[in-house]
Amino acid sequence: MTTALSRRQLIAAGAALAAASATGVADARIAPSSLQPLIGPGYRPTDRDELGMWQQMQRVEEEVAGSNLLMKDAGLNRYLQGLIGKVGGPAARDMRIYLARIPEFNAVMFPTGFTVIFSGLLLRMRDEAQLAGVIAHESAHFLLKHQIRQYRDLRRKSDVLSFASMLGGIAGGAAGVYTGDLAQLAQLGTILTLLRYNRQLEAESDALGVRLIAEAGYAPLSMSETWEQLIGEIELSAKVRRKRPDRGYSIFSTHPAPRTRMVDLRASAAELTVPGRAYDRGRERYLAALSGIRPTLLDDQVKLNDAGATQYVIQSLAQDGWNGLLRFHEGESLRLRNSQKYHDRAALSYASAVAFPDAPADAWRWHGIYLMKAGRPAEGRTALQRYLSLAPNAPDAPFVRQMLVS
Ligand SMILES: [Zn+2]
Repeated sequence: MTTALSRRQLIAAGAALAAASATGVADARIAPSSLQPLIGPGYRPTDRDELGMWQQMQRVEEEVAGSNLLMKDAGLNRYLQGLIGKVGGPAARDMRIYLARIPEFNAVMFPTGFTVIFSGLLLRMRDEAQLAGVIAHESAHFLLKHQIRQYRDLRRKSDVLSFASMLGGIAGGAAGVYTGDLAQLAQLGTILTLLRYNRQLEAESDALGVRLIAEAGYAPLSMSETWEQLIGEIELSAKVRRKRPDRGYSIFSTHPAPRTRMVDLRASAAELTVPGRAYDRGRERYLAALSGIRPTLLDDQVKLNDAGATQYVIQSLAQDGWNGLLRFHEGESLRLRNSQKYHDRAALSYASAVAFPDAPADAWRWHGIYLMKAGRPAEGRTALQRYLSLAPNAPDAPFVRQMLVS
């Protein structure tokens, strides 16, 4: 897996970056205490190249801020802004956070201190501590000035990849966002992989990130858990598709050696954990903040038709307890696999879903349909009546009513 990922990375990032990461590799874990943020409150660049980058990025941020891919939930956006304010280190109050509706496990920090979080990331986090870890990692890239350091490093080693063309690509991608198409912001993500960091910089961000969450009172172990979940998901996705787990999954999997990073993060967490101190997971706060969009997040994930990944995500979330929403989407994912074996399993999922008070109306709909198919018309009719009472104005309600009177 490591070999496949790094080969992909080398091809995608181009020869110049390949040269940089081949020479800049450091294998040892970085101690969280060894790093100091280079950016403080109210930071403004003074060097010419960095000033130029900031000017370009201001335009990019305007495009991102105007994108209709951003999720508008005001409460949730305030919550995210508050979270980066807690774990963003010395420049926390200057940082901006945007939530884009893209069903992918990803987050990107731009060189001027604004970050774009993808909705697929929020779906996968089990509590606030896990999300805080990702945000802290991204913040650390900014605090340690990784983008400008990486650029200077590349420029020193090679004239193949000019910074101007990198910026042109980013600005072009961001301009595409403005027209508001899901694929286009995803494309921006791809373009941004030009800014992918070498192993040394990722290790630095992990080390500072885990320290930032520990200082904010979050369980330091949560960051290695996130990696564990990502690895599990990639493996199950590949297994179901009968492929090797080498898919360019997200910016996280292009980071080298996920397993190494998971192990290093665990060691750093142990180093930072103060015995006897109670660490926050913020699970209830996280669930409350996400409650308005979780059905959308699950819908978007199911529609990717990546059955293994969806199964992993749902089972991972269900470790904190099953509910009607999770069972319903489990059913949806199985039903879309469209073979008898999976239809049977989908029927069981819908039947489980409707036993929970939060089951969506559609869970009753499919429960009813599968009961009818199974030759249990009386129970099927009851379920469909329940569906109609929950969703009287559903587009198919007239059709279902017709079915029930006939
Ligand atoms: Zn990173």
